[in-house]
Amino acid sequence: MKLVFIGPPGVGKGTYAQAVSERYGIPHISTGDIFREEARKGSELGKLVKEYMDKGLLVPDDLVIEIVKRRLQETDCRNGFILDGFPRTLPQALALEEFAKPDLVLNFIAREDVIIERLSGRRVCANCGAIYHVKYMPPKVPGVCDKCGGPLIIRRDDRPEVIRERLKVFHEQFTPIIRFYEERGRLITVEANEQAPVVIPRVLSILEMRFKESPRSQSGK
Ligand code: ADP
Ligand code: ZN
Repeated sequence: MKLVFIGPPGVGKGTYAQAVSERYGIPHISTGDIFREEARKGSELGKLVKEYMDKGLLVPDDLVIEIVKRRLQETDCRNGFILDGFPRTLPQALALEEFAKPDLVLNFIAREDVIIERLSGRRVCANCGAIYHVKYMPPKVPGVCDKCGGPLIIRRDDRPEVIRERLKVFHEQFTPIIRFYEERGRLITVEANEQAPVVIPRVLSILEMRFKESPRSQSGK
């Protein structure tokens, strides 16, 4: 089950990926997470990618492709994987076709007002990094972290005007990728306007239908 997840910030992609990862025992591989982890560790790779990330630039294709290719060769990927954040450019999409052609690409969409409500309600503890939501996961005392008593703040990224800009960048970057898989008949668009308990079963049932059918029709030959 080789999957690619695409979706704008705030669509809940990470949550759905985790659910699918648990259900099918395949890893959730986020290139952004890999790069942040390497940067945190201060590895050679980390130092290199940090320069691009800090400038708000994409990491060069050759480098990203090599890292993803290697990651997908690890044993935990033998039954498949969920790629998140990759491919992000057409050269990356073309390379992936060669070394691990995705079976299905899930394109998560949500209305802009839903995304803005989700992200602008997010609060982060300035002290320990714990994440809350004023409506969906409120702290016991408003503005105060349950875990450490630290102050809860709004990340700059989560302000409505910044969210709108991030959404614009997302659409510019991913429209060609979405079209790429659409043209090849491997794209499914999934509506994600509701909360996770509604969207997760929707995602799982799409996958169940898709991945049950093909072995059966093959054995019927
Ligand atoms: P965001 O761009 O929304 O911060 P990510 O967490 O996906 O989200 O990525 C963080 C950074 O890592 C990106 O800004 C970019 O510099 C780099 N990056 C992640 N994935 C890729 C990719 N597929 N191609 C090039 N650069 C990437
Ligand atoms: Zn805290």
